[in-house]
Amino acid sequence: MPGFELIDDQERRAVDEVFARGGILFRMGFDDLRAKVFKVREFELAFARKFGAGYAQAVTSGTAALKVALTAIGIKPGDEVVTQSFTFVATVEAILECGAIPVVTEIDRTLNMDPDDLARKITPRTRVIVPVHMLGAAARMDKILRIAGDRGVPVVEDTAQACGGQFRGKPLGTLGVAGTFSFDFGKAMTTGEGGMVVTDQEALFLRTRAYSDHGHESNPNFPRGEDTRSMPGFNYRMMELQGAVGLVQLRKLDEALKRQQENKARIKDALRGIRTISFREFADEAGETGDTLVFFLENPEVASRAAKRLFERGIRFKILPEAMKWHFAGTWDHIFSAVKGYRRKDPGKLWRRSEDLLRSAIAIPIFIKMDEEKINRTAEHLVRVLREP
Ligand SMILES: *Cc1c(COP(=O)(O)O)cnc(C)c1O
Repeated sequence: MPGFELIDDQERRAVDEVFARGGILFRMGFDDLRAKVFKVREFELAFARKFGAGYAQAVTSGTAALKVALTAIGIKPGDEVVTQSFTFVATVEAILECGAIPVVTEIDRTLNMDPDDLARKITPRTRVIVPVHMLGAAARMDKILRIAGDRGVPVVEDTAQACGGQFRGKPLGTLGVAGTFSFDFGKAMTTGEGGMVVTDQEALFLRTRAYSDHGHESNPNFPRGEDTRSMPGFNYRMMELQGAVGLVQLRKLDEALKRQQENKARIKDALRGIRTISFREFADEAGETGDTLVFFLENPEVASRAAKRLFERGIRFKILPEAMKWHFAGTWDHIFSAVKGYRRKDPGKLWRRSEDLLRSAIAIPIFIKMDEEKINRTAEHLVRVLREP
């Protein structure tokens, strides 16, 4: 599950080192005082290299990463941005922050964007498509990229929940024109708060960098105070202590993925004979991060009963069903009541198929550190309850 499970002395030493070598907490400048320590810059380069991306821009959060990417692409008020009904509320918040109109698709049994519904919901005003790789697993990127390519619409992957995942051998976040990541405290890698935008397009990267730094173009021919600019920006800069922690967490990512994939496989194997459940479908199961085990029960009532019995046995959940409110668009009256095109609609009726799937699902968090006993105990409780849910 989250990178915080692995936080130890290495992160503390990385932070200490920043203080020991000048204590410059700002990501740029102060060259005489910082003994060549540029942790955020180093983190960006290591992150881009790790995932084979041309460029990476660190920002303050995954939500900021989405807004920065959309703004750098040129999203303007009134544009339509398509995303999916099952995501963290942040995806839609970022779209609204750009003044754009969120157009929301149903999900399918991968719990990610339903490509057929995407094809139906694209209009001449669609400017970006944002598939979200939920709970560690890729959206159907082959179909989504084909539909987007046919219409000439760029794809930005919200990879906040699938850092380190792949689709057919390609790192998630690098299949579209840009990918965004989150390093908040619940994510696969954490810097406390933080985010990243990756892209292969230099022009897009330069706009991303400028927008997240008040428009500064970081022109090497001028001191910062006389820096050039060609667009207004904002401040979404990451600080040095986060860069230092991020570098350590990035080094731990492969081991974390491997361990949780193993742990997940063992619990999943224990459930294979159970006929009352069906597992989540995958666009590419080999590429998923293994951070969650999701299965569907016959219908929402059966799922809700099973969840209650599992909870009583000490089993805890990840998002489904315990945090549906923050992850399913059908519950976001507080957002859609003020959005053009939604004002007279009841969000609870707009994504019925998604709601039925989500309320029939149970998601079990898979931890990096799960000992033999915890794995067996979890499997045992699941088997007991699910045999007669
Ligand atoms: C966590 C998350 C975000 C936002 O990231 P923050 O760093 O918390 O701002 C965006 N999208 C999804 C799908 C997320 O899970």
